Amino acid sequence: MVGAGPGDPELLTLKAVKAIASATVLLVDDLVNDAVLAHAAPNARIVYVGKRGGCASTPQAFIEKLMVSEAQRGEQVVRLKGGDPFVFGRGGEEVEALQAAGIVVRVVNGITAGLAALTSLNVPLTHREHAHGVVFVTGHAKPGDSGTDWVALAHAAHQAKLTLVIYMGVSGAATIQSALLQGLPSDTPVAIIQNASLPSQRHAVATLATLYDTLQSERLGSPSVIVVGNVLHGLQAAHAADASLALRAQG
Ligand code: SAH
Repeated sequence: MVGAGPGDPELLTLKAVKAIASATVLLVDDLVNDAVLAHAAPNARIVYVGKRGGCASTPQAFIEKLMVSEAQRGEQVVRLKGGDPFVFGRGGEEVEALQAAGIVVRVVNGITAGLAALTSLNVPLTHREHAHGVVFVTGHAKPGDSGTDWVALAHAAHQAKLTLVIYMGVSGAATIQSALLQGLPSDTPVAIIQNASLPSQRHAVATLATLYDTLQSERLGSPSVIVVGNVLHGLQAAHAADASLALRAQG
């Protein structure tokens, strides 16, 4: 189980590169940059198991069965997942399925998207002045699950000074925004970072009050992480100064 990082192939770990090179079969998720596969052996079999070209994603049970059957046939299987395998993306479930089948599993960390996204803006996840901790949280719950309690999280983030890093939050952004506003000040800085670490990366800086409007006006979509918290305050100040200069320039 190998973390392919957020996109930039230079962010792979050396352990990941070694594992990819030793694989005879690679099962690849859709957020994995193809450039990472340059490390694969020329005769390795590459199976895409993510949703490409708008197709429904390969059912999870099928992926798990395929991993087990390939491993049982003696293949050296590498399951490549975007970011870190154990930050969302169901890596935990896959490891359980493999272990239940008696397959020996090793997990190799990758740089998770939320970390790479903030770092690309030179913003830390924690800061002695602004954030005592960080929460990686999903905006997308399992069907039937009531999902994240955003109001409780907002209160906790405010009281305990936590940075919120929201994955899979784009489609639910309006709901998340209005719930977070019940516990966090409306001028709390927000950043939305799309395609972090890739040449196509784009981002916007906003406040909690303008989160959804900014997503719309900047046409930011998936995959993006939404970061909420005072660690962004320097970036937001610079952004506000830029905007006022631009306004003055316009006369
Ligand atoms: N295991 C992955 C997360 C999988 S969940 C990791 O550790 O990064 C998929 C979500 O991750 C996306 O909806 C998006 O919120 C985020 N994501 C993945 N790659 C991204 C990227 N390059 N830029 C911004 N967000 C990304």
